[in-house]
Amino acid sequence: RYVAWKSREGIGREEIEDRLGDFPYLVVDCSLAGLHSEKELRSLKKQVNWTLRVVREFMWDERYVVAGMDTGTSAQHFPSVEDFLDQVRPGKVILLDPGAEEEFRGENADCYIIGGIVDKTGNKRGTTALIYERLVKNGYSVERRKILLRGDVIGVPDRINHIAEIVLRAVMDGTSVEEAILSVQ
Ligand code: SAM
Repeated sequence: RYVAWKSREGIGREEIEDRLGDFPYLVVDCSLAGLHSEKELRSLKKQVNWTLRVVREFMWDERYVVAGMDTGTSAQHFPSVEDFLDQVRPGKVILLDPGAEEEFRGENADCYIIGGIVDKTGNKRGTTALIYERLVKNGYSVERRKILLRGDVIGVPDRINHIAEIVLRAVMDGTSVEEAILSVQ
């Protein structure tokens, strides 16, 4: 991306460095790993690792944060999302949550949080809200947004790496959320 800017826009190093602050953090909160079966945990690890590849298409490893799980990758690791928020202090934070009231329309934020939740067995419906409630209870300011395809969450792929790709495509490439969803399907 820097190289693309450099050659396309002919901008220098200083300007590139100025723009680095414009890149958001993408955070996966794995604090609910304890709710998962062994099979789901394996899938969670895979999805979290695939998400690094998605992040690399748009940004670089340091912008990818995994909280509460060791992935053995070059993502940044924090014990909890709260630790990350305390240390990095991003401005606007959006939690992607299918149970949110407001729809995600590709708005900019400094940090996007995705729940490290896999829904293969059992009923984990509404569990992303637990992350929201915990963060609010701990005094953090977080906005929640749901991703919809033509007015419905049905049809939106819910794997963590797909949600990451939809968000980054919409925010960084400026495509519509619908186009972003269709491109990952
Ligand atoms: N069962 C969980 C729930 O109902 O809250 C959803 C788990 S989903 C497999 C994994 C994560 O992807 C969620 O925590 C959320 O961050 C994100 N996600 C999945 N679908 C979404 C949607 N339609 N809108 C916003 N976020 C979504």
